[in-house]
Amino acid sequence: MKYRTHTCGELNMHHAGQRVKLSGWVQRIRDLGAVLFVDLRDRYGITQLAFYEENKNLLEQARKLGREFVIQAEGTVVERESKNKKLPTGDIEVKVEKLKVLNTSKIPPFTIEDQTDGGEEIRAVYRYLDIRRNPLKNNLIFRSRVTQAVRNYLADQGFIDIETPYLIKSTPEGARDFVVPSRLHPGQFYALPQSPQTFKQLLMVAGMDKYMQIVKCFRDEDLRADRQPEFTQIDCEMSFVEQEDVLRTFEGLLKHLLKEFHDIETGNFPRMTYEEALRRYGTDKPDIRFGMELGEITDLVKQKDFKVFSATEYTGGIAVPEASGYSRKQIDELVKWVQRPQVGAKGMVWVKYNEDGSFKSSVDKFFDKDDFILWAERLHAVPGDLMLILSGDKETTQKQLGVLRMEMGERLNLRKPYEFAPLWIVDFPLLEWDEETQRYHAMHHPFTSPKPEDIPLLDSAPEKVRANAYDLVLNGNEIGGGSIRIYDRTLQQKMFKLLGFTDEEAERQFGFLMKAFEYGAPPHGGIALGLDRLVALLAGKESIREFIAFPKNNAGRDVMIDAPDYLSEAQLKELHLKLEV
Ligand code: ASP
Repeated sequence: MKYRTHTCGELNMHHAGQRVKLSGWVQRIRDLGAVLFVDLRDRYGITQLAFYEENKNLLEQARKLGREFVIQAEGTVVERESKNKKLPTGDIEVKVEKLKVLNTSKIPPFTIEDQTDGGEEIRAVYRYLDIRRNPLKNNLIFRSRVTQAVRNYLADQGFIDIETPYLIKSTPEGARDFVVPSRLHPGQFYALPQSPQTFKQLLMVAGMDKYMQIVKCFRDEDLRADRQPEFTQIDCEMSFVEQEDVLRTFEGLLKHLLKEFHDIETGNFPRMTYEEALRRYGTDKPDIRFGMELGEITDLVKQKDFKVFSATEYTGGIAVPEASGYSRKQIDELVKWVQRPQVGAKGMVWVKYNEDGSFKSSVDKFFDKDDFILWAERLHAVPGDLMLILSGDKETTQKQLGVLRMEMGERLNLRKPYEFAPLWIVDFPLLEWDEETQRYHAMHHPFTSPKPEDIPLLDSAPEKVRANAYDLVLNGNEIGGGSIRIYDRTLQQKMFKLLGFTDEEAERQFGFLMKAFEYGAPPHGGIALGLDRLVALLAGKESIREFIAFPKNNAGRDVMIDAPDYLSEAQLKELHLKLEV
């Protein structure tokens, strides 16, 4: 028995007169008395089924159908009387001669329409119903097209797809590990990979030359909006490469995707050092689709009586275009906005650069027009702009200005979803000082190689050492990051020492990698791109959850299957676990 001869998305006037069989879901029923129409839906589209009075039994049967019933209909393709130009199948309908209910359905908890009446919560519980709707369905189809294009591109470049294990031991990517207790080895645990980092490096030692994998990674981080504890990376590694080779290869990949999905030709991506990105944009993932760059005025405000400025390391600001007309209320709201803990500024100074060239500010007592003219120069402000100024320690203040800049860009609609501005950030510091643990952390990860010319600084001024590391940034999002790796045992050991590992700790955790380095490890490097985010951005969206079939919610729960969940006493015992909660 055959369920269907065609899908619900393919019939048109060319099929008129043909006898066909369709299977799908009842989307909508319109009973006009003498005739009853059913919109039949499957993944491919919607086809109108028609039941006429001349076949009374069949019409009665159709009257018993309900929304989301799964049915099979057999009949003849006929031209419609009133055509629906919006549907590819809108010229025809199927005059049904045989109807079979394959399955019934309860009334769904929300309407399965493009514009649904269901809230986010209920749709998450019934994700499989939500995926029946076009928006999610199309997102998943789009994602599949992107992954296919990525695979094709990388395969053409000679990359080999190799799977690496999920039950491993810790790979540091700066997050906590998810762990899996071992039943067979009491008291021991596997860790789920934060990334396949060490394995892909071992594959280079193994001579595989170019590796790729579209792979799940797991990071037990404190939850932030739009983060997923498990997510997908396009993970790659290459042998006998320098930074330039990796950048060119993956610039090629993104160019290919932009061409394929948006018919956009991009020139070579700009490159910016980490230091420059912070200075100009207050972030290492700048959205360069709009200006409003940071300007520093520290030296211009030092000699004045205004303590807030004169006592601090850095004073700088941005010029918000055409905002000099903001009301007191609007400005107060902005000041409150930067004072929220998420931004953390203590206060904000504002200067209106009026259309007539005059100034009005919150610090008129301390500064005059001559000052403001100099400030305006640094901030690239013109009459009509509103200058917003923050002050404090340098890095913190730059970052706060960066957050404010993005917010203003958002509010002023300067972040256009279908405009794409990729760039590389390079020359990251190798290490980051962590006040809390009083230790250096690897800014990227411990396997990242220092710039050869900076290696002498490792002993004298570790914080000054730059890494051979790079990030790929798109529209204010970090969509990938990677580095050239250390491939020499001695240097790797030294790196672990700098990061505060004892020799024993380093040996226990990473001995396998350092051992491999002693058997002819080639120079190598790589990168990983976040697939979820990349797909969302290519679709002109920011939320990754809408591009994952079964995502976790903000609290890291899967509310559909209700996970995480408790284990039974028996399972706990088998795993040699005792709970304290
Ligand atoms: N393993 C790194 C990450 O997950 C990427 C890389 O260095 O290739 O961010």
